[in-house]
Amino acid sequence: MPPATQVVHRPMYPVLERLTREELKALQLRRLNRQLERLWSTNRFYQRIWREAGLEPGPLKSLEDFRRYPVIAKEDVLADQLEHPPYGERLGVDIRDVFEITLSSGTSGKTQEIHAHTVRDAHMRALHGTAFRWAGMGPDETLVFHVGISNSASHGPFHRGIRAIGKLPYLVGHLGFEKRLELMQRLGMDHMYVMPSALNGLTQLCEKQGHAPRELFPQLKTIMLSGEGWPVEFIERMEEAWGARIFEGYGASQTYGGYIMSTCEHGAVTDGRRNGLHWYEWAAYLEVVDPDTLEPVGPGEAGELIVTHLEKEASPLVRFRMRDRVVYRPWTDCSCGRQLDMIEAGTVGRWDDMVKIKGENVFPLEVDEIIFSRDAIAEYQARVYIGDKGRDVAEIRLGIPEGVAGAEELVEDLRNELKQRTNVTFDLRVVSPDELPSYTTPDAKPRRWTDERQQNLKTGGAS
Ligand SMILES: [Zn+2]
Repeated sequence: MPPATQVVHRPMYPVLERLTREELKALQLRRLNRQLERLWSTNRFYQRIWREAGLEPGPLKSLEDFRRYPVIAKEDVLADQLEHPPYGERLGVDIRDVFEITLSSGTSGKTQEIHAHTVRDAHMRALHGTAFRWAGMGPDETLVFHVGISNSASHGPFHRGIRAIGKLPYLVGHLGFEKRLELMQRLGMDHMYVMPSALNGLTQLCEKQGHAPRELFPQLKTIMLSGEGWPVEFIERMEEAWGARIFEGYGASQTYGGYIMSTCEHGAVTDGRRNGLHWYEWAAYLEVVDPDTLEPVGPGEAGELIVTHLEKEASPLVRFRMRDRVVYRPWTDCSCGRQLDMIEAGTVGRWDDMVKIKGENVFPLEVDEIIFSRDAIAEYQARVYIGDKGRDVAEIRLGIPEGVAGAEELVEDLRNELKQRTNVTFDLRVVSPDELPSYTTPDAKPRRWTDERQQNLKTGGAS
């Protein structure tokens, strides 16, 4: 077991974190009304959209009342940027007040949102340290930062956040895994911030070199993850391998450029069960809604995350659709005492990643979880194509080493569970793990799914 199993409560904002649900809602309503009033008088982008929706300026009476305001999407932001380059009218402040920017993923101005930050926006620095503080980072402790620095959410806000509560975040995200391990051994570290796939790659490299990570880095206390989903078994295996506890945060270019929610001191997983990421509800108003009806979802249900900044000056977002698929969990699901609502840890995915197979909505992340809960399976590749009978075929090649006992039963059992959870019968094949790609290179997100159906339709059949 990891060493620090005792849970230490380290609040970041002792007063805000002790507010009752009613007090929090009242605070949100006050801040939301202040923000809306400001935008009604200064922001042409929102003035236009809200007038088109038939709204008039004036304070909201309740948070429920806010649902009259229209949601906006990436397309609205991009159209505004194209028409009023480079920031769009959504910028809402003097261009000379732009202190820092973050760009969303994408490759050009036609696909990449640009989010500007004023000095005040950029220096909500303590906010982005909350996750690390809750995880237990102390003022004299160092962190190794495994995410490459670019104009994405990985730069300014995170570094200011970490420095607000700890010290010396040093950078390795630009290096290959060998160099990272070398530097980590030279400098040491108390905490680590890394994507799940990179953590997996680092672990494999240590083991290939004949060392258990926990022996190489005995001083490591915590690992902070974000950016990708994970199966519960992965967390348990990694906590054991590194002798450290694992936490998770959620952030994006659209969330002040840093974290807007994170796990508390209870970490990512307790006793085989996923914990939740508490929302920083004093800084943002968050909703989880059904992507078709825009109605709020219930506890334990999946929906789309909608983000509203309560504080932001430049490029504010009001009811912005993140396209992230999250599972809503009420605050009562956590025993830490914070009355901050949550999403489930480790299951953030993209609505755009959804694959429709035989009329069923299948999420690759869910299939990952089902497959990787079986230790014998090292890797897999899924392929969806149109079969001889003109129907969808979903094939999964499972990398299982030769000589694994009970492989046949394992495959049968897996087929049943996949059918039960996704409503799709998968065509499962066992192959040698060597035949499948392995994702151990830095920053390479696993690409396990291919959809050949469009191609099949063009060429008239499966290749
Ligand atoms: Zn909690």
